[in-house]
Amino acid sequence: MNKESANSLTARIVIGMIAGIGLGLLFKAMLPKDGDLIIPLGLFDFYVRGFFVDGIFEIGGQIFVTSLKMLVVPLVFVSLVCGTCSLTDTSKIGSIGGRAIGLYLITTAIAITIAIFAGLLVAPGEGVNMTSEVTFAAAEAPTLAQVIIGMFPSNPFDAFAKGNMLQVIVFALLFGIAVALAGEAGERISKQFEDLNEVIMRLVVILMNLAPYGVFCLMTTLFVKLDPSAFANLAAYFFTVLGVLILHALLTYPTLLKVLTGLNPIIFIKKMRTTAMFAFSTASSNATIPSTLNTTTKKLGVGNSIASFTVPMGATINMDGTAIMQGVATVFIAQVFNVDLTVTDFLMVIVTATLASIGTAGVPGVGLIMLAMVLAQVGLPVEGIGLIIGVDRLLDMVRTAVNVTGDSMVTVVVGKAEGQFNQDVYNSVDDTRGDRIDFHHLKDK
Ligand code: ASP
Repeated sequence: MNKESANSLTARIVIGMIAGIGLGLLFKAMLPKDGDLIIPLGLFDFYVRGFFVDGIFEIGGQIFVTSLKMLVVPLVFVSLVCGTCSLTDTSKIGSIGGRAIGLYLITTAIAITIAIFAGLLVAPGEGVNMTSEVTFAAAEAPTLAQVIIGMFPSNPFDAFAKGNMLQVIVFALLFGIAVALAGEAGERISKQFEDLNEVIMRLVVILMNLAPYGVFCLMTTLFVKLDPSAFANLAAYFFTVLGVLILHALLTYPTLLKVLTGLNPIIFIKKMRTTAMFAFSTASSNATIPSTLNTTTKKLGVGNSIASFTVPMGATINMDGTAIMQGVATVFIAQVFNVDLTVTDFLMVIVTATLASIGTAGVPGVGLIMLAMVLAQVGLPVEGIGLIIGVDRLLDMVRTAVNVTGDSMVTVVVGKAEGQFNQDVYNSVDDTRGDRIDFHHLKDK
């Protein structure tokens, strides 16, 4: 692939996205509504809904997301084993993990605190009269002890099969340490892993280059199905969450990055574009891991030994965007149900939301399950979730983009602090590095 076309991967994804949204809205306007009997099984409806929306586009979109997920476990395992055994001093794992977890928790707590303040300031639920028929059962928030014990796999293959990221991380770290300590045998295995990593990263780039089509399909089906009437009562809630998400991404992260590393935050935001779009269209931090790893290592200059550890960990335990939704949603639901929350309640919300985010994976919609835990913790009716569910999908997409931006920011900070960071790569204007598929050596054969 030549440079010019590689340059346009981000542009092509944007085009795919806009075209998908446009086509989705067009289909929506043309299709008979459900229950509308004017042309119930007309040819147009049959072809558009059956052949395109539920057919080609649904298949294309799902294959795209599934293929990204397919890469996650092998990619995380192989790159983390490589990363660990290339660390000259494996005792550094403690300080890398400590810094990353500390920053992840702090940024989440900041996020939810801003969200609660914004919710109290805007009061999106004041005077809103809504009822909901949706019933919800809240699962218990896990205790810290459960979270820690749950990180250790009794069977690594089970962890792989279930895609339990924290367990995969722990196994990969232990395996990598053993490889580093195993002398000659370790060296041989480590070379094999390096080669395997190279191959898997190539697969990542191939898939990333198919993203414009996948994103196009995903957006088309999503926008046909979106229900605009859900937004009527929820505009204040929707825009409060959106506003705080944007503020967090464009103000909190750049400020933290500048203060903690001295790096130019504008470069960071610019280079996050492609990954943020992956997150936006898949609504899954987990499915975005391949792109986040690619961006942090190839474009932002963080060493693989750091990024392969902090990125998958962040996708699992760091969900600032989700915490923002939970903060505003808690205030909104309390206002709708006329419940006064005390300062202790709000502190409880902050602690529960932060802990819940550790135990739940980054997949679409999981934020609502965590919200149920938070609401139950402060005695708010869990049915309140039914009120906001109508606009949640769109917010899920935006907050996932914020979640992965947070993971990447922390990765850069830890990489720099640990001396595993290449400032020239970070500063380079070529932000397509890592997006290209190089076919030259195939042609030479
Ligand atoms: N979809 C989000 C993520 O994958 C989680 C959520 O907020 O539902 O990061």
